[in-house]
Amino acid sequence: MENLHRSLKDQMRKFKIPSDFISKYPDFIQSINDSYESLIDDNVRLENVLEISSKELFESNQSLKKENITKSREAIQAKEHLDRVMDNVNEVIFEVDGNGNFTYLNSAWASFGQEDPIYSLGKNYMNYTDTIDHFDKEVISHIKNKDVKDFKTVFSRPTSDKKLLWWELSASLQRDENDRITGAIGSLVDVTKTKETEKQLILANEAKTNFLSTMSHEIRTPLNAVIAISNILLMDEPKESQIKNLETLKFSSKHLLHLINDILDYNKLMTGNLKLSNEPFSLQKTARSILNSFYFTAEDKNIKLQIEIGHNVPTWVKGDSLRFSQVLTNLIGNAVKFTSEGSVKMSLLSIKNNHEKLKLRIKITDTGIGIPSHKLDTIFDDFTQAQGHTSKRFGGTGLGLAICKKLLNLQDSEIHVESKLGEGTTFWFDLDFDQVSYGYLNSIKPNEGKKLDLTGMKLLVVDDNAMNLLVINQFFDKWNIEYDEAVNGEEAVNKAANANYDVILMDLQMPIKDGYQATKDIRNMGGSTSQTPIIALSATVSNDIIQKVTEAGMNDYLSKPFDPIDLYNKIEKYANHNEHNNITKNVDLLEEVNS
Ligand code: ADP
Repeated sequence: MENLHRSLKDQMRKFKIPSDFISKYPDFIQSINDSYESLIDDNVRLENVLEISSKELFESNQSLKKENITKSREAIQAKEHLDRVMDNVNEVIFEVDGNGNFTYLNSAWASFGQEDPIYSLGKNYMNYTDTIDHFDKEVISHIKNKDVKDFKTVFSRPTSDKKLLWWELSASLQRDENDRITGAIGSLVDVTKTKETEKQLILANEAKTNFLSTMSHEIRTPLNAVIAISNILLMDEPKESQIKNLETLKFSSKHLLHLINDILDYNKLMTGNLKLSNEPFSLQKTARSILNSFYFTAEDKNIKLQIEIGHNVPTWVKGDSLRFSQVLTNLIGNAVKFTSEGSVKMSLLSIKNNHEKLKLRIKITDTGIGIPSHKLDTIFDDFTQAQGHTSKRFGGTGLGLAICKKLLNLQDSEIHVESKLGEGTTFWFDLDFDQVSYGYLNSIKPNEGKKLDLTGMKLLVVDDNAMNLLVINQFFDKWNIEYDEAVNGEEAVNKAANANYDVILMDLQMPIKDGYQATKDIRNMGGSTSQTPIIALSATVSNDIIQKVTEAGMNDYLSKPFDPIDLYNKIEKYANHNEHNNITKNVDLLEEVNS
């Protein structure tokens, strides 16, 4: 058995197996030898497999390593890229953890925090709110509120060199799956420039408002004279041929006043300065007289003016009569202006009427030129006219409807329009009024058609403008009122001290001593003079005028240009307070209810 496997031979030698054993058991030896041979084969195969596997393992290890290196290089590059972007934006980008400590800040932070972001990381945001206004701080700390998700506020903070900067803070809260706040990510934008522009705009707007109110005062004063004198001339039984000219003069000056008021109101509406009043007024009389004021224009154009008042519309209501009149005047004015044949109809219908409230539907319908359908949405915009040639052909500013819309919106009402080109237009809106109490209604005494006469009264008229004095005194002559004049506050105080006036009419802006001071001096005089009713009469239209005249001690206020009837009523009202007067009450206050 020369070909025995080397290992088998070694084993036989090791265990001293005699050589004849092979010849004795040849088959047995042969099978052991075969086992040895096959074991070797298996080992070789196993080694091969192992070698291949470890090679594969090595290779995949290598490629994994390479991939990892590339990935982390990419990640580093992406982070560097992001940092570069973040550090080049002007806004501060920040991240805080659930405790409010900074975990990320970009370079822009230096402008807010006044230090390098490196020093601020880890610190709490509250370290930077000490110089913020208390209110803003509260608002900012509100961000911790559980319901807040996105948050925005603007606040100011002085820099270390005392420059006040404005910041807009936007942040959004981060939460975990249990809705617990884990931090916030947000930005801070320097809005100082915008704030400064805003401030300049406010100043410019104030300057514009002041300019407008000064100008209106200046324009109203001579206009007052024109309107009043046309009234006086009409009362003086003019010749038939003069009546039309006088009516035109009166209409044009009133129209001019209307335009000035439009511009002023628009200004007040834009600055949010317009306050509504809620006083009793005769709804039906107001509506009728507005329609009547277009009588001459309508007659000239040969168009009919019609009025429809629902059977359950009350005569008196409580509301802002001035604004109500303004909306009606604008709408009827437009209807008459844009109608050349047919009619203009105003209807007042009650759509809800109980003992406390009235909801009125007001409709103005005309048979005029109509409005193109594509313009129906824009005619309520400021300075908008439906057709390019409108202003040349019909005049106007394009402000009337914008003012109507804003005035009605202020009273929670919407204006609507329906129109067909060439056929006509209807504007309508619903307006709420308070009902007037029976007590108030009983206190009003209708005294129709009597002559205006205040014989026995003595008044002091204080005005530095000779034209105003002339105008007022002409009315006084007609009403048989005795009067003295004073051209400044000082003269007024001296005259009041030496005579017993029933009423003093007091202008406000005057040289030497103004109307406010003169009133205060009279109130401090003692005796019955200090009780004299004083009515302020001024062309000033500022919002706080009523408050100012009341504070100065005046009893009432009448704006110029005034309606003579209003002046008469006011004088009569205060004269009645003085019992020594014997005055006939004779003003047509109430019109009969038209059902
Ligand atoms: P304006 O001062 O030009 O009358 P408004 O704001 O009152 O300004 O009206 C805006 C425009 O709407 C008018 O110029 C006109 O084109 C159109 N408009 C208003 N009312 C009527 C109407 N009743 N009939 C036809 N067009 C009208």
